[in-house]
Amino acid sequence: MRPEMIVLQNGRVLDPATGVDGARTVRIENGRIAAIDDPGARQPAGAQVLDCAGRWIVPGLVDLHVHLREPGEEYKETILSGLRSAVAGGFTAVVSMPNTKPVIDNAHLVRFVLDKAKEAGLAKVYPSGATTKGQKGEALAEYGDMKSAGAVMMTDDGHPVMNPGIMRRALEYAKAFDLPIMVHEEDLNLAAGGCMHEGTVSMRLGLKGFPAAAEDVMVLRDIELASLTGGRLHIGHLSTAGAVRAVREAKRRGLRVTAEATPHHFTLTDEAVATYDTNAKMCPPLRSQEHVDAVLEGLADGTIDAIATDHAPHSSVEKDVEFERASNGIVGLETAVPLTLALVRRGVIGEKRAIELLSTGPCRAFGLPGGTLAVGAAADVTVIDPAAEWTVEPASFESKGRNSPFGGWKVQGRAVLVMVDGRIVHGGEQRSR
Ligand SMILES: [Zn+2]
Repeated sequence: MRPEMIVLQNGRVLDPATGVDGARTVRIENGRIAAIDDPGARQPAGAQVLDCAGRWIVPGLVDLHVHLREPGEEYKETILSGLRSAVAGGFTAVVSMPNTKPVIDNAHLVRFVLDKAKEAGLAKVYPSGATTKGQKGEALAEYGDMKSAGAVMMTDDGHPVMNPGIMRRALEYAKAFDLPIMVHEEDLNLAAGGCMHEGTVSMRLGLKGFPAAAEDVMVLRDIELASLTGGRLHIGHLSTAGAVRAVREAKRRGLRVTAEATPHHFTLTDEAVATYDTNAKMCPPLRSQEHVDAVLEGLADGTIDAIATDHAPHSSVEKDVEFERASNGIVGLETAVPLTLALVRRGVIGEKRAIELLSTGPCRAFGLPGGTLAVGAAADVTVIDPAAEWTVEPASFESKGRNSPFGGWKVQGRAVLVMVDGRIVHGGEQRSR
């Protein structure tokens, strides 16, 4: 049914990888980018032509941090529903997290995720495996087996690796397979059961907070361990001024350290917790303005490599409870584009940098394919209408999760067409399923 040739016409091509920024026509043949032509260039007969006037044609967006919840918590999300959410948000590829039930700490479960993803036929999935068996922070998992099965990264996300000796060995072992280790930085002794950022807001609300230093000390520790081992360290959901400073300095030292920040951490402050809304409960917690400002600076100056959503769907069972008892996390995939473009409108970052943070940067951080519209590359393409105004309605999310602090927000910017390997998986005239 689908034509072999699709032409995206009249759009603005914005590709940080090749430096192209301007009116171009994109021709896609047999799942690959066949040509980036001047707007008036004649196109071969028989192509399906899609008009992209007023829109940006960008490399498919890539999210380094997504919880798909399968196996084990399919009531929160399945690989299929998570990938529907991904493409609705403009993402053509996601890195899945291993803190499922059971934990993905072996090649068999890595293959399970890849098989399910292939069946879904929507966004691509790059699975990650656990740093330690069962994410218990004790014995290292089998990185070589998992990499052979398709894993691109190791992480105990959701939990810090508290033992620095284990962390050192993890970095050394992962280095042998050239795999990054992503870290969830939270010193549990300093956090001491706190449920939000420690500061004036936690004091006012009478909620137990924990200090930004719980993140800072772990980031500093792991940067030194990356220096000691020469391993690849990726700081997940970085949220503090201290962490931004530490990563900036690590890069200056030439260490193999990368970092990501989430839309919620650069958009909201701990004031969002003021109504005890559990949709504002996450880990790391929402921080005070000085930390948000530091993260914005890190996004602008290149310290932070990627915007990642930490998409973390939960059901009402986990969220409709007292604040202290609620699970951490929010639905992230479907609101990332407008929240990122809001930074452009505020003048924090430019348009090209926004796309770099959502696509080229994440691919570079983990050495993933994609992140470019170069001729010959797989046609993973996202078309964004930067002017589209819409209201965030969690009830109509493609994700099974409804836990978003952005419900009711009027936002601007949306992915209107998403192609994976040249196939339209969201928007356009057809949908895959
Ligand atoms: Zn996470």
